[in-house]
Amino acid sequence: MKFCVVGAGFSGAVIARHLAGGGHRVVVVDERPHVGGNCHTERDAETGVMVHRYGPHIFHTADERVWRYVRRFGTFRPYTNRVKAVSGGRVYSLPVNLLTINQFFGVALLPQEARALIETKADRSIADPVSFEEQALKMVGPELYRAFFRGYTRKQWGLDPTDLPASILKRLPLRFDYDDNYFSHPYQGMPEDGYTAIIRNILDVNGLETRMNCSFEAVLDDFDHVFYTGPIDRYFNFRMGRLAYRTLDFERFVEDGAYQGAAVMNYCDEDVPYTRITEHKYFSPWEKDKFLKTVCFREYSRSAEKNDIPYYPVRLVNGGALLDDYIEMAREQKKVSFLGRLGTYRYLDMDVTIKEALDACDMIDRAFQSSEFS
Ligand code: FAD
Ligand code: UDP
Repeated sequence: MKFCVVGAGFSGAVIARHLAGGGHRVVVVDERPHVGGNCHTERDAETGVMVHRYGPHIFHTADERVWRYVRRFGTFRPYTNRVKAVSGGRVYSLPVNLLTINQFFGVALLPQEARALIETKADRSIADPVSFEEQALKMVGPELYRAFFRGYTRKQWGLDPTDLPASILKRLPLRFDYDDNYFSHPYQGMPEDGYTAIIRNILDVNGLETRMNCSFEAVLDDFDHVFYTGPIDRYFNFRMGRLAYRTLDFERFVEDGAYQGAAVMNYCDEDVPYTRITEHKYFSPWEKDKFLKTVCFREYSRSAEKNDIPYYPVRLVNGGALLDDYIEMAREQKKVSFLGRLGTYRYLDMDVTIKEALDACDMIDRAFQSSEFS
């Protein structure tokens, strides 16, 4: 059989490899000049630093199968994401942990004392938080919410936190010890040769053809089935209207030596127009000292217009009739499957996209066994 996979990110690569491994003809198309999707990494020409071209990517997971899978295609070096945040002209540690609480309130509390303090601040009248703001007020109370989350979130999403779902903040932990690891998953790492090398290795299998600089809309071949990881509304030519996405603008600058001393510095105040600055050599701690210069990116978030890259699907508290329409239309497509962050319009991390793609491979096998695909 002949399959088309649209998109050479993690979702597309995992599916394509599986199909080609099963002896099928597979054409992977991506309109970008490189594989890797939004996880694409490349060496910065001026500094030599490995740069995450579409924003900082840290691999973390609790899923054993996913962790085993990615390490088949490249070496992961140990990496712990430790984020710093500027608020009101001071630097704090994120996610909110005992150091953040002690520094912010100017105290020296022990874990149980800090927990008791936050309990006096947290809004206990909110039983089941629906919005981002409710989640924040229930989790940390008004002071920490205003200092670290309200301004950053308004910049990041262009919306008031009362209109955003609680799930966005549920991504972040709250800790009453000095653990400043941004993630709570047991596995975390950074690919030694970057994500693009991993995805290139996943795609390196007989029977698989990759067509770069090629949009799906320009492909004229006939396929038995299409696996589509692009934006769901784009597949339907925006027939019902455009779904909302946030796009990012990256302002690159180079300094001698080092700049901020950490990979990620968030700027939580609303009067600073960018959300964060990333200094990419800190994403490769094993080689960071060999570079004479450092390359950094100020990250600005805004509403995506027609020709912008769609980075973040904007899901609202009240869902969206437009998205429901597209999901219904997608269900009716018997010869197309929609996958990935854009194909399913969800805020998915890399490990979840890989897990869902591996699950889809299992479903494909079952479909072959029941001859649905023949
Ligand atoms: P993508 O990587 O978006 O790939 C889709 C591909 O399809 C693209 O290459 C695109 O060019 C192509 N395409 C789309 N439409 C068409 C078309 N019509 N024709 C041809 N090609 C098309 N996850 C983490 O786990 N850790 C992180 O630290 C992290 N940080 C992130 C930071 C940012 C700024 C962003 C935006 C995301 C981050 N993520 C992170 C999430 C991660 O990027 C996604 O989980 C992952 O990229 C999803 O892979 P995908 O294959 O579904 O989609
Ligand atoms: N967030 C915030 N302040 C911060 C960091 C995060 O308000 O300093 C909020 C913001 O709304 C963000 C969400 O928490 O979208 C999830 O944070 P994460 O770091 O996972 O965002 P990502 O790296 O995916 O952009």
